[in-house]
Amino acid sequence: MEKGLLLVNTGNGKGKTTAALGLVMRALGHGFRVCVIQFIKGISTSGELLAAKRFEDLLDVHVMGRGFTWTSKNLEQDKKIAAEAWQFAHKVLLSDDYKLVVLDELTYLMKYRFVNSTEIIEGLQQRRKDLCVVVTGRDAPQVLIEAADLVTDMREIKHPFKQGVKAQRGVEF
Ligand code: ATP
Ligand code: MG
Repeated sequence: MEKGLLLVNTGNGKGKTTAALGLVMRALGHGFRVCVIQFIKGISTSGELLAAKRFEDLLDVHVMGRGFTWTSKNLEQDKKIAAEAWQFAHKVLLSDDYKLVVLDELTYLMKYRFVNSTEIIEGLQQRRKDLCVVVTGRDAPQVLIEAADLVTDMREIKHPFKQGVKAQRGVEF
């Protein structure tokens, strides 16, 4: 049986989610079933969400965190939503349905201590032995790095944002 890797894309540079989506494309090409869970709600007309409709037979995308922003004043509510999102992801990890699962921006649940990091690591380790999981997000905690098989640190060298270029369709979303 193939080994299901735990991959982590972290760091401050652009490309963490992009690289995860590249892997999704690769898996789809082989006819593998893929699940993407986005823990922070992005733009509802993002290219990846629109593209998912074209791969309905193989690709499921779930956007969690119905609008929570991390700056919200209702911390208890944010915590509850984050915990529910993690519980959903945990069920997906234990299911037999996919070959690849992307947990996009999961690191923030750990960083802001919305969900206990040990609980998340244990949940990741309970996955099927051949299930590949990609976790993305800045500031991956040390426990996650230690649990992972592959960790990439996206380092910013240049970003057009610094020249005042705004997020563009097809590049950022
Ligand atoms: P992408 O989704 O483009 O691969 P990412 O997942 O690496 O980016 P996130 O931390 O999730 O980066 O940030 C999401 C958004 O912030 C993206 O629109 C991205 O272009 C933008 N961004 C990423 N890195 C930087 C940076 N160094 N400066 C400004 N904006 C950035
Ligand atoms: Mg991202």
